[in-house]
Amino acid sequence: MCSITCVLVALILLVFIPPIRRLLLSSPILWVMKKMHLVPSISETEKQAIEAGSAWVEKEFFSGKPNLKTLLSQPMPVFTHDERLFLDQQVEKLCLMIDDWKMWRTRDLPADVWDYIRKEKFLGMIIPKENGGLGFSPYAQSEVIKKIASHSFVVAIYVMVPNSLGPGELILHYGTDEQKKYYLPRLAIGDEIPCFALTETTAGSDAGNMQSSGVLFRKNGEVHIRLNWDKRYITLAKISTLMGVAFHLRDPDKIMGDRIDLGITCALVPHPYPGVVTETRHDPLGIPFYNGPTRGHDIEIPLSFVVGGEDGLGKGWMMLMECLAAGRGIAFPAQMAGSSQLAARYTVAYAQVREQFGVPIAKFEGIQKPLARIVSYTYLNEALRMYAVSALNQGIQSAVIASISKYHSTENSRKMVNDTMDILGGAAISIGPRNKISSYYFGTPLSITVEGANILTRCLMIFGQGAFRAHPYAFPMIDGLQKNDLKKFDKAFFGFVWHAISNSFRSVVFSVTRGWAALPFSFKKQSTYYRKIKWGSATFAMYTDVAMGVLGGSLKFKESITGRFADIVSNLYLASAVLRKYEADGEKKADWPAAKYTLDQLFFETETAFQEIYGNFPHPIFGPLLRYTMLPWSRINPIGSSVRDHEVEQIMKVIYGEMGGDFMERLTKGIFEPKDPIDHLNQVEKAAAFYQKVEPLLKKRKREGFESLTTEEKAQVVEWNVMKLEVVRVDEFTEEEYHS
Ligand SMILES: Cc1cc2nc3c(=O)[nH]c(=O)nc-3n(C[C@H](O)[C@H](O)[C@H](O)COP(=O)(O)OP(=O)(O)OC[C@H]3O[C@@H](n4cnc5c(N)ncnc54)[C@H](O)[C@@H]3O)c2cc1C
Repeated sequence: MCSITCVLVALILLVFIPPIRRLLLSSPILWVMKKMHLVPSISETEKQAIEAGSAWVEKEFFSGKPNLKTLLSQPMPVFTHDERLFLDQQVEKLCLMIDDWKMWRTRDLPADVWDYIRKEKFLGMIIPKENGGLGFSPYAQSEVIKKIASHSFVVAIYVMVPNSLGPGELILHYGTDEQKKYYLPRLAIGDEIPCFALTETTAGSDAGNMQSSGVLFRKNGEVHIRLNWDKRYITLAKISTLMGVAFHLRDPDKIMGDRIDLGITCALVPHPYPGVVTETRHDPLGIPFYNGPTRGHDIEIPLSFVVGGEDGLGKGWMMLMECLAAGRGIAFPAQMAGSSQLAARYTVAYAQVREQFGVPIAKFEGIQKPLARIVSYTYLNEALRMYAVSALNQGIQSAVIASISKYHSTENSRKMVNDTMDILGGAAISIGPRNKISSYYFGTPLSITVEGANILTRCLMIFGQGAFRAHPYAFPMIDGLQKNDLKKFDKAFFGFVWHAISNSFRSVVFSVTRGWAALPFSFKKQSTYYRKIKWGSATFAMYTDVAMGVLGGSLKFKESITGRFADIVSNLYLASAVLRKYEADGEKKADWPAAKYTLDQLFFETETAFQEIYGNFPHPIFGPLLRYTMLPWSRINPIGSSVRDHEVEQIMKVIYGEMGGDFMERLTKGIFEPKDPIDHLNQVEKAAAFYQKVEPLLKKRKREGFESLTTEEKAQVVEWNVMKLEVVRVDEFTEEEYHS
């Protein structure tokens, strides 16, 4: 009896009295972990990436105990009066000026459109009013880009680039007073055209490995930098007047201090500048915008060209990482939302007008499935855009949320545009002014590749940064270990252990009760998904802890596993965004089929990711353990299963009016609505609306013959036949036009 008590007392002392625990447990654990390299080594560039910005709701999922109130009460952004006016007037006018097809044909942005963009400060949306810019909120920027992108993918790029990561953003946050005073007003009105040169032939995704170099030297008593660079894929480089250049800076003569390697630095080089070459262009899938290489050989610049002057030496990577979130969180989701909303409107209408085998193709179940997916992706892209902008509007810059937004908005678009192409058939393949989809089709791969290509974003950034930034104990534990800080390590290590144990318990209980134990008293129709968020988070957090604990530093290289973890945390986040949108829009009956379909798909993908983790866990003991215990249980009791056919039917009822009425208009609110009667979106939508009117007559004709119709009815049927033929026509060109 005494010996059991003694053991218990010893254990309690050991675990719960920190000084004793540190001495007898944490100290040897720390030693072993260091010796066995059980935690990932973090380079300086990785550390700066991890530390950049802040964490937002992703913390909820990594904690395993998400607070639904936090997830579902994020404020939905609103416009200021000036922002509303700008959208209704300047953006509307810009869209009216754009002839997208002509731009593709001439492969150029017309001078009047470019002048208008500059004059009306479209390039200075991020620049505060006091510096001469528009000073728009992230929400307003997003709406402007969305509206332009819904009309012209190309013009959206011209507007997005100067408002994303580049000279404007860098000067705003890190520039010296002189740089701010001189450049910001000029950038705001387009007197300076910025570009940013980071990528090189051997440094694409691994941008930190850049070979471009700068060397400090003295000239006439002043410190200068001699620069050499060879960059490629640089948007607007050829027409830029202010080039942001990232390079590795060295100080071999130790002019600035003891360090020779000062690290990545960003400079602002006016263009043209002696020795800077931007003669040639790339041709990015035929999309007509300026993109090309730039080279600089032994360029001499004064220290005042460095972003932030002397203080900015060696801080370039930190600057880039801190600013990356805005572009990825605002520009891409907005561009994808605009393009996908246009495509959805067009395709839904077209499928009702286009007849084959005597009926509109929208009546075929084979077509209904991709149509439902299109609606779901559009709903999801809008939900994730608004959710991310809500964080940015509150001043929260999360790298993980930016990565999720960039990755999923572009991936959804890639899948959606293929569905669109399938439904439109030859009408999508034949390019010309009538084809509303081709620029979206050509443009989507571009968005997938830039600012962190998607595979890298999924495998390294979403989960990797999240695990360090949003996990309550991981980063403090590694930091304590690297700094040999026993106190910090001890606190984080035992916090980690307790976190894993409590989430294991929660995960089992939630799994057995399908989340009811987490939320017993909520009976709204969306409560099922509240429960799934709680259940999924507890299981995700537990497996994250297991993977980090068991695989240690090697987890970083197990991208098959980290990619699936990224899918799970993304889907939990996206499900929250969908629920937030559904509730913020007033929980309308007509919105539920699209919201539900999207949520079901997200949890089905979550289930697939869990099963793939259980089935492939790369560890000799835990692998088989999970395979033989968790995998069968997960198959019996999945958190999600594939979307049912009747859900597709529900979406058809909504989009073709039986249930929704204005659902498609609400889903695509904020896109450019062309007034021109010969615009093909207008024509197709007009025909689709007319079809709703004549459908009973067409049925009557089929049943009882043409002669059974009244004269007026016959006229309507004839009008319908003419209209539908006109609408399904594709563009034709003479030989001369084709070659011009
Ligand atoms: C049209 C266009 C405009 C651009 N504009 C600019 C600009 O203005 N300024 C600028 O500096 N750059 C610009 N870029 C460059 C862009 O950011 C890079 O293309 C991008 O970073 C990817 O680099 P890469 O093309 O060399 O691909 P690579 O780095 O060669 O990658 C190839 C593939 O490998 C994957 N991959 C790489 N590493 C990993 C990993 N560790 N794990 C998993 N997968 C991995 C990538 O995801 C990708 O799928 C532009 C590019 C394009 C195409």
